[in-house]
Amino acid sequence: SAAVAVFTRDLRVHDNPMLAAAARAGKVVPLFVVDEKISVPDGRARFLAESLADLDRSLRERGGALVVRSGDPVDQIRRVAEEVGAERVHIAADVSGYAQARESALRSALGRAVLHSHDDVHTIVPPGFLAPQGKDHFSVFTPYYRRWREVPWRRSLAPPEAIRLPAIDAGDLPQASGGGFPGGETAGRRRLGDWVAGPVRDYARRHDLLAEEGTSRLSAYLHFGCVSALEAARRAGDEAFVRQLAWRDFHHQVLAARPDAAYRDYRGRGDRWRDDEEALDAWRAGRTGIPIVDAGMRQLLAEGWMHNRARMITASFLTKTLYLDWRTGARHFLDHLLDADIANNNLNWQWVAGTGTDTRPNRVLNPLRQAERFDPDGDYVRRYVPELAGLAAPGIHRPWRSRTPGYPAPIVDLEEARRRFLTARR
Ligand code: FAD
Repeated sequence: SAAVAVFTRDLRVHDNPMLAAAARAGKVVPLFVVDEKISVPDGRARFLAESLADLDRSLRERGGALVVRSGDPVDQIRRVAEEVGAERVHIAADVSGYAQARESALRSALGRAVLHSHDDVHTIVPPGFLAPQGKDHFSVFTPYYRRWREVPWRRSLAPPEAIRLPAIDAGDLPQASGGGFPGGETAGRRRLGDWVAGPVRDYARRHDLLAEEGTSRLSAYLHFGCVSALEAARRAGDEAFVRQLAWRDFHHQVLAARPDAAYRDYRGRGDRWRDDEEALDAWRAGRTGIPIVDAGMRQLLAEGWMHNRARMITASFLTKTLYLDWRTGARHFLDHLLDADIANNNLNWQWVAGTGTDTRPNRVLNPLRQAERFDPDGDYVRRYVPELAGLAAPGIHRPWRSRTPGYPAPIVDLEEARRRFLTARR
């Protein structure tokens, strides 16, 4: 018998329930379809290409290979299944509206092959597994997390020993080059190994400090599935770190139940956001005149990654201080983040904007107080805003009190902006 193992963003051989199930068939086609409808920014295209090349190497070591097609995924998967006479097609269930529609289109397009959708590939606890009485998902994190902690984790799975490929043309791996985090399972596992060997033990103390390497930087590997979230949680053990992975599960279960929450206000608040192209451009470029905001925005452009605390500060600044629509900010992040993820990005944006699941939707983060607390020595600002490199803390966070040629004056008065927001929300 033959099966098709469709890889999407689960680009790994370790702890991959989708691949493990497919490999039980006599022969299996590990397949990746380059979806021509999805346009991927350069950094992510490079990370993806490296991840696919690494997956291909791992499959070849086991006697198989990655088969690559491009075009419409439903059409290509159906064709491959027919070509090898597959009885089963395996795929990881995913939470975005696009992925959910793709899965149902695939289910009806397949002729004699049966589709197996695996809901335990991307998250630790499958979306929909936990729900409050009478509802289909949790909308508040704390009660979700209380129940989440009681769920026993499944076992972590070893890679299949052998992959037996039927006769089929493998096609060409996509090519792309560039710098940044190296993509792929091998690089991701190395990072996970280094992380659990030591730094994770300081996570609770250091994860909010902007200038430190206090977080795992595993997000892109988790997004593309080069590293399994379940395996990361099992190996790390640390409670504060595992709790962040529970946040990831939380946002995934919200999106699975409410796919439109990627683009529509979760709470249906109907904010009348301002229109201000100039302010939006200044925010995007990291030239708002508020150093901590600018440092975060410039880190994003330089590295394709931003510290979580900076994501909160910059998102709060856009939505609550400038009072601009969270969707424009979410889109900019999606265009530049290597770890861009509809569930984690768009639902965190809603959380910060107070349109989503935050239980204190009208709280406004004061960027100056945030800066003094989480960048007390000014090292983070100094790293990304070289115009201010000559200033010491705490003055570096309020440069309008010094002479700083080349650095803009603040584009907004923070106190006035706070009142504007609170009045608008009333
Ligand atoms: P660590 O602190 O080491 O955490 C480990 C893992 O836990 C992360 O890799 C991530 O998978 C998960 N995690 C941590 N914090 C969160 C969180 N608040 N919500 C969901 N999962 C979390 N994360 C993304 O993966 N992709 C995004 O597109 C994304 N956009 C964001 C946008 C905004 C406005 C905000 C406030 C947060 C966003 N996050 C996003 C969550 C978080 O900022 C990143 O996951 C984290 O900074 C990645 O760095 P790390 O791997 O070193 O995290």
